Amino acid sequence: MTEKDKQTWTPDDAAEYYGIRDWGAGLFDISPAGEVNVIVNGGESKQSVSLVDMVDGLHQRDLAMPVLLRVENHLDTAITQINESFAQAISSTGYTGVYRGVFPIKVNQQSHIIDEIARFGERYHHGLEAGSKAELLVAMAMLRDRESLIVCNGYKDEEFVDLGLRARQLGIPCFFVVETPDEMSLIIERSRKLKVEPLIGVRLKLGTKVDGHWSEDSGDRSLFGLNTQQLIDSVDRLKSAGMLHCLRLIHFHLGSQIPNIQNIRAGIREACRYYIDLVEEGAPLGYLDIGGGLAVDYDGSRGGSQQSRNYSLQEYCVDVVEAIQGALDPEGIAHPTIVSESGRATVAYTSVLLFNILNVSHFDPSPLPAELAEDAPEEVINLAALVGNISVKNIQESYNDAVYYLESLRELFRRGEIKLRMRSIGENYYLAVMQQIARLIPELDRVPVMLEHLTEHLADIYYGNFSVFQSLPDFWAIGQTFPLMPIHRLNEVPTRDAIIADLTCDCDGKIDRFAHPEGERRTLLLHSVEPEEEYYLAVFLVGAYQETLGDLHNLFGDTNVASVRINGDGSFDFVHELHGDTIADVLSYVEYEPDNLFKRFRNTAEEAVREGRISVAERQKMLGAFTESLRGYTYFER
Ligand SMILES: *Cc1c(COP(=O)(O)O)cnc(C)c1O
Repeated sequence: MTEKDKQTWTPDDAAEYYGIRDWGAGLFDISPAGEVNVIVNGGESKQSVSLVDMVDGLHQRDLAMPVLLRVENHLDTAITQINESFAQAISSTGYTGVYRGVFPIKVNQQSHIIDEIARFGERYHHGLEAGSKAELLVAMAMLRDRESLIVCNGYKDEEFVDLGLRARQLGIPCFFVVETPDEMSLIIERSRKLKVEPLIGVRLKLGTKVDGHWSEDSGDRSLFGLNTQQLIDSVDRLKSAGMLHCLRLIHFHLGSQIPNIQNIRAGIREACRYYIDLVEEGAPLGYLDIGGGLAVDYDGSRGGSQQSRNYSLQEYCVDVVEAIQGALDPEGIAHPTIVSESGRATVAYTSVLLFNILNVSHFDPSPLPAELAEDAPEEVINLAALVGNISVKNIQESYNDAVYYLESLRELFRRGEIKLRMRSIGENYYLAVMQQIARLIPELDRVPVMLEHLTEHLADIYYGNFSVFQSLPDFWAIGQTFPLMPIHRLNEVPTRDAIIADLTCDCDGKIDRFAHPEGERRTLLLHSVEPEEEYYLAVFLVGAYQETLGDLHNLFGDTNVASVRINGDGSFDFVHELHGDTIADVLSYVEYEPDNLFKRFRNTAEEAVREGRISVAERQKMLGAFTESLRGYTYFER
């Protein structure tokens, strides 16, 4: 960035630098005041609310950072969009079936999210997908609309099957998706016993392979589903039990975050062949469940990476509908109800992780002395001579020289020929040289290999009040990147190249890869922060998977959570608040008993009183502080 750019920096430059208009999908933007706004398009009226105003509201409610903020409106929007897009695709192509979405509970099981999906989804008969008994209980209790589907995937024992059959008795359209031939026998047996007709589906193991992180979910080696032999075997079991009429659905799931629309089309085409042949076998079917996989454009690159997708939601829906039509029409088979299990695309945009910066480490040189110490060795004199004499022309040579002088200086130190203070003076000059080189890098036509990572090595470390392991597990576990940026000061030029460290004492507890439409970055420009000044960052699109996969690394627990609803007049309400784990909570998760800990500590304190090391009054104060800490938040409190 040149000096001129710095002076003319505007919120539009910030929007471009952080890519918010690409990954933000019209749901987040930057205001002229330089703050991130949450955008809600409520029919006619478009409302925008500053995240900074929401942070103020959180503080007033004693919800300290870090906070997971859920914007309910964005969840409603996602459900509306997928249902309306399918409806539009269906009417524009003359498809004669309907669409029924189901939300897979595993993607975000939090009761407030499921409640909102069940309530808001009712108008579209949007149902739930359950992969375990616990999730089935949730689905049975939360859905009130009798046309919303429940789809049961995953391995099922007798109790699971019985629960689903009870749901059928209550009139709930609850499908068992059979994963193994044994499950088919179990379902046949239990439905006879309970005298309830089941709705049965089969999970196909398609040959279609997909791109992206979850490619293993597809193909012959995928963990789930019936191969062709098992499928035929299961159909025969149904036939001989006189229950083929219960086979109502076929299902496949190619994996999550499918970046390439071609894979989705290929999967549908293959599944339709199964559909056709099973209908010919005499199964009524009527439902085609295409699983999840609808991707989120995390980096805003519109298909430029695996963190993205090369299709829009409209395109996805049209392609699905057309592919089914194209396969079934020549066979004269009626169009089935299309079921999809989009999880990620439904909830990702809802949640924003907000945290504050606690501290910053710089790798800047200290002020350079006016003159060199008399006893300075040649190495230090040479390093000092480089400072201020670096140009685009001699950049590579200067870099090589500086590295050489530094290494010789350190060798002198190892041999005991110079003192610690002299080494430190030399290293300070070295840092000054490297910073000057780094500033020239943007002016180079071609960056030499050895300089490629210099900016990263010199980047500031911003210490954030959060845990990667608790709040962004996929960043650590599978290399997922999420959009991250400051929520304010965006009309000011960000001048510091930075990476972000979390509170854990783990060297993986950092964010050093940043999503961007033009490709992943290794550092991110942030604003300089004065001590005591609050600086807020947000990580966006974290509503899918992150909340439930998080762990207690270093005993940092669940963060505070708040759900906000933006009203038609631009006001907003906190409709739900949840205080995060206390220290006592997380200790009890790992089987400590906080009461017992307190008693032990009290004994230690009592002993100190007996031995005259502290007074009784001091003991009381210490016990008070101990109790207070047990009740406190696991994160850093100001
Ligand atoms: C996880 C899962 C989903 C959700 O996939 P998304 O890519 O998040 O939409 C859907 N169906 C099944 C069977 C799953 O296991």
